[in-house]
Amino acid sequence: MKAQDHTPIVVEEVCAADAIYTNAVLITMDPSRPPSETGAVAVKNGRIMAVGEAGEIARLAAARTEIVDLGGKTLLPGFYDPHGHFPNSGVRNAHFVNLNSPPMGPVERIEDLVEALRRKAAELPEGSWVLGHGYDDTLMAEGRHPTRRDLERASEEHPVWIQHTSGHLGVANGRALEAAGIAAGTAKPEGGVIRIDPGTGEPDGVLEETAMDIVKDAVPPFSRTDWLTGLDRAVREFAARGVTTAVIAGCDRDTLLRLQRGLAGGRLPLRLVCMTRRDVPEIPSPGEAAGLMTGFGGERMRLGAVKIWQDGSIQGYTGYLSSGYHVPYQGDTSYVGYPLRSREALCRMVADAHRDGNQVAIHGNGDAAIDDILHAYAEAQKRHPRQDARHRIEHCQMAREDQLDRMAEMGVTPSFFVAHTFYWGDRHARIFMGPERAARMSPLASASRRGTRFTLHNDSPVTTIDPLFSVWAAVNRRSRSGRTIGEDQRIGPLEALRAVTIDAAWQNFEEADKGSIEPGKLADLVALEENPLKVDPLAIKDIAVLRTVVGGRTVYRAEG
Ligand SMILES: [Zn+2]
Repeated sequence: MKAQDHTPIVVEEVCAADAIYTNAVLITMDPSRPPSETGAVAVKNGRIMAVGEAGEIARLAAARTEIVDLGGKTLLPGFYDPHGHFPNSGVRNAHFVNLNSPPMGPVERIEDLVEALRRKAAELPEGSWVLGHGYDDTLMAEGRHPTRRDLERASEEHPVWIQHTSGHLGVANGRALEAAGIAAGTAKPEGGVIRIDPGTGEPDGVLEETAMDIVKDAVPPFSRTDWLTGLDRAVREFAARGVTTAVIAGCDRDTLLRLQRGLAGGRLPLRLVCMTRRDVPEIPSPGEAAGLMTGFGGERMRLGAVKIWQDGSIQGYTGYLSSGYHVPYQGDTSYVGYPLRSREALCRMVADAHRDGNQVAIHGNGDAAIDDILHAYAEAQKRHPRQDARHRIEHCQMAREDQLDRMAEMGVTPSFFVAHTFYWGDRHARIFMGPERAARMSPLASASRRGTRFTLHNDSPVTTIDPLFSVWAAVNRRSRSGRTIGEDQRIGPLEALRAVTIDAAWQNFEEADKGSIEPGKLADLVALEENPLKVDPLAIKDIAVLRTVVGGRTVYRAEG
């Protein structure tokens, strides 16, 4: 028998909560609790210890317990961003020229863009790259892409490379084209286009899809210090919007390494799920190459799906549609965009990843790309049947009703970029899709009617990370001009909140640990100034985030 230890144990201290969030309006996302009831949450060792009525939870307090009185403010599970490109927004905001149009940036005409690049060039050592992002041809007065000639007015000495807001097109000046080895007669890569100036027969500087990679590969990588500055900034941006988990929709090996170093160095207080990217059939994603499956990792950082792209962006005319664009591209009524590879090649990539036990997530905006994706998922399941694979479709913008039927049958789950209705809704109706197809873009209500679980994302840095803005867009579908884009595709605020909390956790196989405020789950929380279920639906986007908590630790607190 073990000798008795006579050291007195203070039972109350050992069993007590580390922190109690009290006097809160709780939207727990736990179906057994009604939303908006008043109560408290106790946290211990980074997990939720108890949820309930304030008086009852107060009994878990001891002298050392931190008591956070929320004064009637609303407490939710931390927002789960299901698709973005963390930490690129921070890296870009720290090092790229902001070429967005209002409200995200200052550019209203090509001259504004040239001037902004010229200023940046003047600050940099001669010969170094000038990088810009976020320009939108359809929002600038000229309504066209800038060309190499425009960028040469900013600088002829520096290579200049700028990316379209969609991330699917870019423009290089002569120096940058030269550095990348692009000249007249350079063969266009599969899945990409090198646009040619019809007057000169030379590349005009605009590169689409995979052709962008030729220039991107020539841009020197950021130094470790520059990248870390961007990482810190991205952490602040995400935490300030209430995000506690970010899913990175396509990491390469270098990014995975840098993130792990960031984590080890204590600079990454958020949780990450890293999808690993697969661009060509022959080369496995870094996760596949290492023999590591979806789900591998720990509470801070895990491997997510294998990420594949099958088309581009509808507002860049590179989305792959089953019937032509509303305003035909360069007058060509037969032009429907293009897939990034053949259906057969896609099937091979999906079958490999699926066979090994991975989740697969494929970017598909146009309905023809979605047809390819559904075909590839069906073929993979036929060859290697597997229950509950939760394969995803990213953006899924033009999913037709028959495609939503198939998705429901197959258990395929979409992540919608619903804020498109605000940012591009007017132009989708007028230019790209036409009014009928635009009214059905991001068809949330149609998916919901079929019982399909879906998520909402901002695709940061394409648009600013802001899950509440996605919720606002899902509930209102208001465009920039104030029109409602597809009234009958609106959903209620509770369902929209599910899509950035519990359904997002589920979509990424994390529902046992995240997405709701329930005992045993990770203590990832966000406190809001107002209750999104009670405010005027049009005011949801203006609700302030007061505090963001990851694993019981406060990572953001509003000033004042
Ligand atoms: Zn994306």
